[in-house]
Amino acid sequence: MATSKNSSNGKKNSGKDGSGATIWATDPGDLLLVGPTFDLSSLDRAATPGWTGDDDAADAFRLQRGELLSEMQERLFAQARAGGGTRSVLLVVQGLDTAGKGGIIRHVAGLMDPQGLALRSFGAPTAEELRHHYLWRVRRSLPTPGKVGIFDRSHYEDVLVVRVNHLADVDWDKRFDEINRFEKQVVDGGTVIVKVALMVSREEQGLRLMERLDRPNKNWKFNPGDVDTRSKWDDYQAAYQVMLVNTSTHYAPWHVIPADNKWYARVAVTELLAQALASLELTWPTVPWQVEDQKRRLAATMDPATLVKAAESAATEAEEVHEETAAHADDVREVNELAAVDANGGASPEVAWGDDVAQEDTVAATAEGDQPASGGQPAPAAEAQSGGKGKKKDRKKGKSGKK
Ligand code: AMP
Ligand code: MG
Repeated sequence: MATSKNSSNGKKNSGKDGSGATIWATDPGDLLLVGPTFDLSSLDRAATPGWTGDDDAADAFRLQRGELLSEMQERLFAQARAGGGTRSVLLVVQGLDTAGKGGIIRHVAGLMDPQGLALRSFGAPTAEELRHHYLWRVRRSLPTPGKVGIFDRSHYEDVLVVRVNHLADVDWDKRFDEINRFEKQVVDGGTVIVKVALMVSREEQGLRLMERLDRPNKNWKFNPGDVDTRSKWDDYQAAYQVMLVNTSTHYAPWHVIPADNKWYARVAVTELLAQALASLELTWPTVPWQVEDQKRRLAATMDPATLVKAAESAATEAEEVHEETAAHADDVREVNELAAVDANGGASPEVAWGDDVAQEDTVAATAEGDQPASGGQPAPAAEAQSGGKGKKKDRKKGKSGKK
């Protein structure tokens, strides 16, 4: 595949359509990032930040990135299976009804091998879940090492639907702190967290709900309660606004995705996921035995004619591996180069994160005696810094604990 190149304005670009034109003008990871001054009410939900191509180009590019995603995911999985790897990735997908959460799962997660995925949807808590702390069901659903976990809704419902509908009497600031500490633990355990909030406009939501009613094959997706939720639109927007600014941290930042264009949301989330996986600098595991020894043992069980066949394909195999490895390295470099560029064509922007991490990690759920499901090994050293600049980039560059 082609490598990235510089365009005439000097910006690094990544992603090309069939004609070789560049598509991502700037890193969506920067453009969509929620910083302390983020204002949801001014978000243009039909915008396509950073993308210079059309919808077809986005779909084509997403599929192209899919090859990379799928190899990185396989490496992640292989590392955990055979290399003692402790890393994992968690994609948290939030959004109101019709925002396109299901489409993200189908079209982004669908690019990867289902064996390496751990998908979990969070609905209204069951009777059993209600008997536990709200993070209980979340901890139990975290991706184990080697997996890409996907949350379709998440613990964030506990500061959204629960808040809007007054389902619990809660100190929201405390709950935000608790969520931040919880996520810090998860990240320290070796999981890269990617949080995306899909935001459709009110008009677009109306159209999508109406479509569900107009089409018999979509009726099943409609829930009469969706109209009640919609009638609380402003309350939900307000709840999202405070949630986003209070729980976007340097170790688990939020990205808000304008989602009126489904193709944009999908290609943007694909890129964020590619960046997260690339930050892990995944290699194939090395095995704890000698390949040559095992080859001799195996050869002793094969007849000479078959051994000749094996020797013939060995050369082709070696060449294929060489080419695949080089192409993969090019793709990863492309993702990393884009991630390192901001809207001005320079280094990624400084984000003045608030004091978002309380020092102690005694999350209430721990008191219940359940252990974080993720990893065992402390990974990232990147969080040690206290300034804003550089934190996000540290993660992107994989300093946070390449094993
Ligand atoms: P859906 O994603 O369309 O299957 O709907 C799941 C529903 O479960 C949504 O209406 C959510 O708001 C609701 N839900 C998810 N988590 C919670 C929670 N912690 N408390 C109450 N309702 C929730
Ligand atoms: Mg729904």
